[in-house]
Amino acid sequence: MTKNKSFIEIQFNSPFKIKAAVSTRMGGESGGPYSSFNLGKSSGDDLIPVNKNREAYASWYGANPGKMVFAFQCHGSQIETVGSPGEFTDVDGFMTQTPGLLLNVSIADCFPVWFHDSVTGWIGLTHCGWRGIAKGIHKIQVQKLIETGSKIENIQVVIGPGIRLCHFEVGGEVAECFPLKFIRESETIGKFFVDLPGIIRQDFLDLGIWQKNIEDMDRCTYCEPDVFYSYRRDGGVTGRMMAGIMKIQ
Ligand SMILES: [Zn+2]
Repeated sequence: MTKNKSFIEIQFNSPFKIKAAVSTRMGGESGGPYSSFNLGKSSGDDLIPVNKNREAYASWYGANPGKMVFAFQCHGSQIETVGSPGEFTDVDGFMTQTPGLLLNVSIADCFPVWFHDSVTGWIGLTHCGWRGIAKGIHKIQVQKLIETGSKIENIQVVIGPGIRLCHFEVGGEVAECFPLKFIRESETIGKFFVDLPGIIRQDFLDLGIWQKNIEDMDRCTYCEPDVFYSYRRDGGVTGRMMAGIMKIQ
């Protein structure tokens, strides 16, 4: 099988067959600032290439285009347990035990975080921007898995690409939402850099997730303009990547 540059695949150590990945900006149909694998319908791009890209996206997963789950994300902390396809409003994360259902969140600086319990077979995916992280959405997802009967030692998590410490510069009002340990002062007075994936990882460790079960892709969307869209780097006129996860029958 040839490697498809439009996807970075994620592997879980599990007896279940799970297909999970994050898309890149490469190998698609969109042009201009959206070049080229833009999956965002409300990004301002022409819908004809976006729809073609979305077809290629579903096909790569081997997903039935009628069995996909999408969110109108709101940077909140709502996680939806789903058993059937649909588009969900005001939701930033999904979990399911249903095979053949492709869960998706769209990103362009915010971090996708994937969850899998290798014993119960549950999967989950959350969209973690700074507001969601401050509200603890990633911790809520773990709590919801525990409620389904997960043991903490069986939960595996993967932190995807997003805007990291090197580029996530914010004002004091954002920085003060987070522990000092994860903040660096900028050379610009009154500005700070925040290590969002560091916070996510520490929270997972504090919840008792095993270190060997926490993977961080260690990729910054801002740092890699050829590979990723970055909302901040591109001044808002940019495409969207999609993170997805599906349990295969
Ligand atoms: Zn960076």
